[in-house]
Amino acid sequence: MTDCIFCKIIKGDIPCSKVYEDEDFLAFLDIGPVNKGHTLIIPKEHHETLLDTPDYIMERIGPIIRKVAAAVKSVTGADGLNVMQSNNASAGQIVPHLHFHLIPRFQKDGFKHWPQGQYKEGEMEEYRTKIAKLL
Ligand code: 5GP
Ligand code: ZN
Repeated sequence: MTDCIFCKIIKGDIPCSKVYEDEDFLAFLDIGPVNKGHTLIIPKEHHETLLDTPDYIMERIGPIIRKVAAAVKSVTGADGLNVMQSNNASAGQIVPHLHFHLIPRFQKDGFKHWPQGQYKEGEMEEYRTKIAKLL
């Protein structure tokens, strides 16, 4: 997509700090890292969100995420690592080209977990039934 910043990175029109590339995927350092070594993995094919992305891409990205995650964790000496992925602006997605964040984590690095809500009586079963029905 012509006005997509990640498509421009893939084409080489915008530089990136590349850590991995193959025919269909690219991994590079996030320009604004939570912690140093924070890496993004993207398919070269433009799809906006996880929900728009075809299975043939999702089937192949998992092993790449795992491989790059291991390298990021090893090099940074991190105690842990988050794999994060946002869909749509309300979920915090800024760049509308599917990407997975690999965030090396350290004890007390200040990066906060999400707040935990709760269900009313019967609500959890209601959601479970509705979601399960579509699968
Ligand atoms: P999102 O909130 O969409 O999941 O995250 C987008 C990420 O892309 C942000 O963490 C941001 O720092 C990163 N980013 C945005 N523009 C660029 C860029 O031009 N180069 C690199 N390397 N990262 C970028
Ligand atoms: Zn794109």
